[in-house]
Amino acid sequence: MTGDVLLSTGSRTIRSIGMRIDVITLFPQLVKQVIDCGVVGRAAENELLQLECWNPREYTLDKHRTVDDRPYGGGPGMLMKVQPVEDTIHAVRRQNPNGRLIYLGPQGKPLTQNMLKLQSKQQSVIFLCGRYEGIDERLIEQQVDEEWSIGDYVISGGELAAMVCIDAMARLIPGTLGHDQSASQDSFSEGLLDCPHYTRPESIGGCDVPEVLMNGNHRQIEDWRLRQSLGRTWLRRPDLLEAKTLDKRERYLLQEFIDEFEANSSM
Ligand code: SAM
Repeated sequence: MTGDVLLSTGSRTIRSIGMRIDVITLFPQLVKQVIDCGVVGRAAENELLQLECWNPREYTLDKHRTVDDRPYGGGPGMLMKVQPVEDTIHAVRRQNPNGRLIYLGPQGKPLTQNMLKLQSKQQSVIFLCGRYEGIDERLIEQQVDEEWSIGDYVISGGELAAMVCIDAMARLIPGTLGHDQSASQDSFSEGLLDCPHYTRPESIGGCDVPEVLMNGNHRQIEDWRLRQSLGRTWLRRPDLLEAKTLDKRERYLLQEFIDEFEANSSM
């Protein structure tokens, strides 16, 4: 669980609170921006998370500080040079021995809210960001605990993927969000999509805010939100509904949504 972490620095022991996130990247200046503002910024400010970036360029041994290398077998593109990446991993592990090392790559496990929820309960994690055509397969086999993909497309480096993970995990760390329930009401957290939301003005282009949201009856509002949530998931992501067991109330509300939807469609 996240909580207090005791770190030793020489003779001093300092108290650090929250989750420790280490990121191995050739572009630390890019990754660090994730804690500059918004929810993640607040979490870092409140010491709910701590971000450290490690640049393999700092671990090169040649005067040109080379971080890429040619692939065996030829062909276009370079790979990340093995030695700087491997030495960086060892340096990170000395400071963060218990964090799982997650390589961000398009061939990894497709990222889900559930994976992030489980990871956010750990005290630390290490993200490895690839560049060029990626990293040597043997490094993945020997050093990496898990490979995560942010979707079926290819981006130029793992940094944006790491930032996505950090942002999504920060939301799940207790105390990060202003309202305790905000994250639990987000899409995917209960296996459903979120309901639609409305703010002022009451009418936009002739389209009014649903009346139930303004009547102050909390039970009706709760039912309406759950009905919309179930209905949206049925319409947009039936795969999520198939994976979820609905209780009696949920089945009833979903049926109400379907009946209303079908009645409107046949008009
Ligand atoms: N040649 C690799 C392939 O097709 O599997 C793609 C390399 S990509 C240009 C460079 C780096 O971007 C990867 O090493 C990985 O770290 C990151 N990356 C690219 N797409 C990603 C995705 N969908 N999810 C997570 N990381 C990704």
